[in-house]
Amino acid sequence: MDYETAWRRSVDEPEAFWGEQARLIHWDTPPQRILDDSEPPFRRWFVGGTTNLCHNAIDRHLDARPDQLAIVAVSTETGITREITYRELHREVNTFAASLQELGVGKGDRVVIYMPNIAEAVFAMLACARLGAIHSVVFGGFAAHNLALRIDDAEPALLICADAGMRGGKVIPYKPLVDAALREAKAAPPRVLIVRRGLDPDMDTVPGRDVDYATLRAKHADAHVPVIWLESNEPSYLLYTSGTTGRPKGVQRDVGGYAVALALSMTTIFDLQPGQTILCTSDVGWAVGHSYNVYGPLIGGCTAILYEGLPTGPDPGIWWRLCETYGVRTMFSSPTGIRVLKKQDAEWLKKYDLSALKWIFLAGEPLDQPTYAWLSEGTGKTVIDNYWQTETGWPALSLMPGLDLKPVKPGSPGFPTFGYRMRVIDEATGEEKAPGEKGVLVIEPPLPPGCLTTIWRDDERYRRSYFGHFKTLLYSSLDWAVRDADGYYFILGRTDDVINVAGHRLGTREIEESVATLGAVAEVAVVGVTDELKGQVPAVFATVKQGVTDDPRDVAQAMERRVVELLGGVARPGCVYVVPALPKTRSGKLLRRSLQALMQGTDPGDLSTLDDPNALEDIRRAIARGPHCGARQAP
Ligand code: ATP
Ligand code: MG
Repeated sequence: MDYETAWRRSVDEPEAFWGEQARLIHWDTPPQRILDDSEPPFRRWFVGGTTNLCHNAIDRHLDARPDQLAIVAVSTETGITREITYRELHREVNTFAASLQELGVGKGDRVVIYMPNIAEAVFAMLACARLGAIHSVVFGGFAAHNLALRIDDAEPALLICADAGMRGGKVIPYKPLVDAALREAKAAPPRVLIVRRGLDPDMDTVPGRDVDYATLRAKHADAHVPVIWLESNEPSYLLYTSGTTGRPKGVQRDVGGYAVALALSMTTIFDLQPGQTILCTSDVGWAVGHSYNVYGPLIGGCTAILYEGLPTGPDPGIWWRLCETYGVRTMFSSPTGIRVLKKQDAEWLKKYDLSALKWIFLAGEPLDQPTYAWLSEGTGKTVIDNYWQTETGWPALSLMPGLDLKPVKPGSPGFPTFGYRMRVIDEATGEEKAPGEKGVLVIEPPLPPGCLTTIWRDDERYRRSYFGHFKTLLYSSLDWAVRDADGYYFILGRTDDVINVAGHRLGTREIEESVATLGAVAEVAVVGVTDELKGQVPAVFATVKQGVTDDPRDVAQAMERRVVELLGGVARPGCVYVVPALPKTRSGKLLRRSLQALMQGTDPGDLSTLDDPNALEDIRRAIARGPHCGARQAP
């Protein structure tokens, strides 16, 4: 089928379209009604159907592919690789589920999972799904305070953690962070289940509260735990957004809609048939990790590679080596990850046999042209930008090589995927924009299967945050976009990332893109700072590639020249700083508001999701010293 016909049908005849797709998964009771749209902006998919994510991910494959690898958990931190078949995964998850039952976990209970990217994190998630418990994975790199906030929101019956994670060869004990979070939290769970990796032999335990998983695992080695069938719209999990723009939102996902959307995406978007392999470099703590490290590939009968380690550890060839070893067909990574590799020798892209690899998908951030070109030219593979949000749960904009691959337009994540009726509208009037004109990207309800059903225990915030921006009921993505004459969408950054220079509205993304075309620049962030004369002027922060020895003042001047050359004098940066690193969230997204706050001496808001607080300290010092180019001085 061609893309246009399939997509048209998905939005014009949603019940017919999704009714057919429902057959991609196993239902214990088939849905009675495909769509209940009677209470917008809420909607219910596959009403009355009962199913289970764990059953669809594991049990359903036991006859056809028991000895196929389900999960390959590779850690370049510990040097351990674990190859786990569907049969073994079934065993491990049943054992884990029995252990959870012994700790009193049942249907509807929340379970917070705070773990590194290891196999047990996957077992824990699937065990919760098996029991109908609602997992809430908190990224293992978050600090105690972030964890405490999420605990208080989710009010879990249990917290599952590992003794420690590792990053760049350094052991990071998790347990002290958990202890601190539980001291801070008001809704601390009564029990903590600990997976000991032997990384922190001196770990403290709290008697009566902390339980060692090894003991329960041995006890329940032969357990068989029946799956709990859930109505399609019951919650499967909670996942908090990255918090790039403010307080994280507890995105709530359903069961049936999510399973169907993932199953459909595996074949059409990711072009993966059962038995084929995906390397997704995300982490189970993120939405991409939930959908394409765990549930999507397993529901699709594929092999999923889970990776614990740096993109460059032990060397920058690691991802390509994994592609060769496991015959990876589809790779899924992020622009941030690729930019890390881009700082290194491009020869690494040529060292391994990538003949099985067909597609490299990238999501999470705007994919800048230089990074796109570096990767597609260096590997000779098709690089596919795809756009989504924690809220959508799967790509909302993408090309679909498994269905009908349209030509790639660099910088564009392509077209709406199934069920997404998108529009680009004027932020003030709500009028639809003409092709080529910039506006806010919105989705007309009903949101397709797989998208969030609400914000955990806060229907009002769901309504207000996403649907409260326009006179009519529209889901606002809070991202700028433009659609070109061929129907391709381009994402131009977040709606709060716009600056106003002498009456001209400039997207920080456009300025960043022009700076990034300079060969010496590795990464760049642009924010608007107040200017008496012009209202705002762009402030540029950039890092340079490894091996660049030029005087930072020369590089900074080259950046200024480039911006003026490409965007005109109106976009001339007020100041340019060459810095060692940019402030990013733990999910690898630029935290522009922290730069802006430093420049203006204002309140930066929640900084607890920052990856490396030192980066901000270095920037503070750089600002105090004065810019490498431009007249604007520190506040
Ligand atoms: P919060 O909503 O809490 O501020 P967040 O928006 O960073 O956090 P995520 O859901 O992880 O949390 O990120 C989704 C956002 O990432 C999108 O709204 C968009 O701004 C950006 N994004 C994702 N994929 C792409 C892409 N392919 N191109 C451009 N931007 C992208
Ligand atoms: Mg967001």
